[in-house]
Amino acid sequence: MTGAIRPPATIAFIGLGMMGRPMARRLAEAGFALRIFDVSQKAVSEFVGLCPAAVATASPRAAAQGAALLVTMLPDGKIVRDAVVTGRDAAREDLAAGALVIDMSSSNPVDTAQLARDLAARGIATLDAPVSGGVKRAIDGSLSIMVGGGAADLDRARPALEAMGKTITLCGSVGAGHALKALNNFLSASSLVAMCEALVVGEAFGLDPGTMVDVFNSSTGRSNSTEVKGRQFVVSRSFNAGFAASLMAKDLRTAADVATHLKVNMPMLAEAARYWTEADRALGKSADHTEIMRYAETLAEKSG
Ligand code: NAD
Repeated sequence: MTGAIRPPATIAFIGLGMMGRPMARRLAEAGFALRIFDVSQKAVSEFVGLCPAAVATASPRAAAQGAALLVTMLPDGKIVRDAVVTGRDAAREDLAAGALVIDMSSSNPVDTAQLARDLAARGIATLDAPVSGGVKRAIDGSLSIMVGGGAADLDRARPALEAMGKTITLCGSVGAGHALKALNNFLSASSLVAMCEALVVGEAFGLDPGTMVDVFNSSTGRSNSTEVKGRQFVVSRSFNAGFAASLMAKDLRTAADVATHLKVNMPMLAEAARYWTEADRALGKSADHTEIMRYAETLAEKSG
């Protein structure tokens, strides 16, 4: 099937969490018809409260009915594959040949390649299009979107992606977006840990954390972590950026898996994956990723 998928075409949207909710809302506001599914009834009802025209459905398969495009925004690639291909009432059963699936979750590229093969067998194309920018940029539709797949499929998806993101980059074939997203989060997670460790050491020295962040932001230590997360989520100790530590740990393991798969030994990456996995375990299930500051503080206590 060719031609851009434009409003009022129907989009099936699966996964209405911190990111999925604002992204699906942008699609509704752009004029797409939405069929939605989430295992959390609360997430579905909240979304219908925001966008009453959205049709709530009982399974991924039901959501897929009549959809030209299916978007997933789920925790990881295994859950995506289950919802789209292998699970009970998986979306693929009712997706028309010629439909397009876009996995916008931060998935492992190995899972993505398998997903694309499974769907291609039914004449359904796949793009991976993970995002960066967090909840704030999901709300205002200015996400950075990293796409893996064919250029013609990206052209079909462009009106929907443009409703959600500002920068859309074709990174390579299927899986390339997911690989780049994991590597991006290696940088993001590492700069966040570096900032937190610097704050812990600086405070022990007697420096004021707010002053430290202000100086980083006007100096060469500046990063997205210092600028966007420093004062707002870490120094304030609100720790409510809206991105779970468990998801960041998963992204670090994905990046390390990619390196291992390619037999490229990168010691800082391996250490970052180990550090975040242990932090995730120590911080507990519902921790925000900015609570990595608390983890750094416990390490400092233990070393004291
Ligand atoms: P979230 O945990 O807030 O949302 C995930 C949603 O998926 C939940 O509503 C959950 O009920 C639903 N879900 C889980 N299993 C399901 C299933 N089998 N079928 C249907 N629904 C299911 O997570 P999030 O923060 O929205 O992140 C989603 C994806 O986006 C992740 O891959 C994450 O790594 C990535 N991401 C998150 C952020 C962020 O700032 N939060 C930024 C960029 C990328």
